[in-house]
Amino acid sequence: MEMNRREFSKLVVGMGVGGGLAENVPAGAAEVSGEVYQEPAKRLPIRKFDVVVAGAGTGGVVAAVAAARQGAKTAVIEVKGYPGGTATEGGTALHSFYNLWKAFGVPKRQVVKGIAQEIIDRLMKVGGCSGHAEMTEGYNYDSVATCIDTELYKLVTFEMLAEAGVHVFVNTLLAGAIMDGSRIRGVIVESRSGREAFYAKSFVDCTAYGDLAAYAGAKYTEPNDYAVCNSVGMGNVSIDKYYAFLTANKAVGQLARGMRSGQPDQIVRAGAERLNVPGLTDAARAIGMSMITTTVHDNYLMFIKCNLKMRVSPTNRDEVAKTELEIRRRMAKAVELFRRYVPGCEKAFMARTSPKLCIRRGRRIECDYDVTLPDVLEGRHFDDEVMVYGFHDSAPRLQVKDGGTYGVPYKALRVAGIENLLAAGMLITSNHDAHMSTRNTVCCMGQGQGAGTAAALCAARNLGTRDLKYSALREALEEAGVYFES
Ligand SMILES: Cc1cc2nc3c(=O)[nH]c(=O)nc-3n(C[C@H](O)[C@H](O)[C@H](O)COP(=O)(O)OP(=O)(O)OC[C@H]3O[C@@H](n4cnc5c(N)ncnc54)[C@H](O)[C@@H]3O)c2cc1C
Repeated sequence: MEMNRREFSKLVVGMGVGGGLAENVPAGAAEVSGEVYQEPAKRLPIRKFDVVVAGAGTGGVVAAVAAARQGAKTAVIEVKGYPGGTATEGGTALHSFYNLWKAFGVPKRQVVKGIAQEIIDRLMKVGGCSGHAEMTEGYNYDSVATCIDTELYKLVTFEMLAEAGVHVFVNTLLAGAIMDGSRIRGVIVESRSGREAFYAKSFVDCTAYGDLAAYAGAKYTEPNDYAVCNSVGMGNVSIDKYYAFLTANKAVGQLARGMRSGQPDQIVRAGAERLNVPGLTDAARAIGMSMITTTVHDNYLMFIKCNLKMRVSPTNRDEVAKTELEIRRRMAKAVELFRRYVPGCEKAFMARTSPKLCIRRGRRIECDYDVTLPDVLEGRHFDDEVMVYGFHDSAPRLQVKDGGTYGVPYKALRVAGIENLLAAGMLITSNHDAHMSTRNTVCCMGQGQGAGTAAALCAARNLGTRDLKYSALREALEEAGVYFES
């Protein structure tokens, strides 16, 4: 489904119909018809920044830190009360900082560094990470799973934002764009402190839904090509007994060892494959449950996933409401199944759920370049790349050639038709199989660093995103520790 700005605006007006509090209708408001309410104009206070990053999730945190470290006065707008995004709510194991080396007998190398690695270093110091745990068995067996304590991740990234001097606006919704032709002048934000306008020179959309790009009139599609999926954290469990259960049933599909509760070489990821346990297998399938688990604590499993394929795109609020209920039922059922069938989980309980539905894709934003599947599989590089990446979520079916890397070019982050907007994270890449690589957490983080750095450089030089010299961007990224192959 392709939409443009006018169609989106109609939807936005439509979303307001029937909502709101009747007693708060301001003077001057008019009911244009029985079905449409004309909101009166308001005078909004303006705050001025160099860079505004929309969304403090997986990519947005890195984008904001990167921009601020370049000296830009940076604001990050996050609707929830904490940063971290889907990395803390859906995934819980970051994939992957490394190339896929074993299958090709090539040297192992860490291909994503920079701010993403700094987050891991800080998490390690507070016992919030498994380290880069090598997968010794599994469908993507030569990858590395970096399992995180989701709550410490929120704290550590919040602290990094503060230390970098980012103006962090949590519990704040980005609700509109103020346009000056094809240039974004500012964004409209809503919070309990009121409705405000944040002006800036450069903008980065890391909202996963592409809200800012859509408000700005960028072209987008809504492919609805994935199941939505929440992961539930279970307390009072034993991953060692779960592993023994999988071993007894000849069903170990994934395995990785790393730091757990302060001890090295412990199981931090175990997953089932071809598990055939009467009662359990069919019931798990019925609720879309994937029996892959990760942990960094002895008595906690962070990652039991429940998938559900929606009929329509997850931008549809009413369908999402139904899905939220169904996913909550499924997560409760998943914990019940573990209690009933898996030794060591008899007293399991739901310890963590996402505050809202997790998605793998909402809107796909049209950018100056669209990373293709051959780009990924053939390990193509570009003369304007902001990072390299070597992981594919569908390995071994799809892998980057010869255990190498491909480049994510800067032009793939520049939102088409808008002068001063970049996009990073799950928003980019239209091809599903290529997206199965670029949407992974570590790739989103690397894109965030590229986009945030570029936004700051553009703001400092009063440039549109297309006028920035790549040599300046590359130099800044290298200085900040970003890894490149050549
Ligand atoms: C269940 C599940 C399991 C996954 N498992 C893995 C895995 O094991 N390994 C892996 O590498 N990847 C995994 N992924 C994929 C990966 O987690 C995501 O693709 C990635 O985290 C997306 O990052 P992002 O920055 O694009 O978006 P997000 O991290 O979702 O960040 C978007 C942020 O924007 C905020 N936001 C949105 N709209 C607004 C608005 N209008 N105003 C203000 N704030 C807003 C959101 O609250 C959020 O914090 C998984 C995904 C899911 C759903």
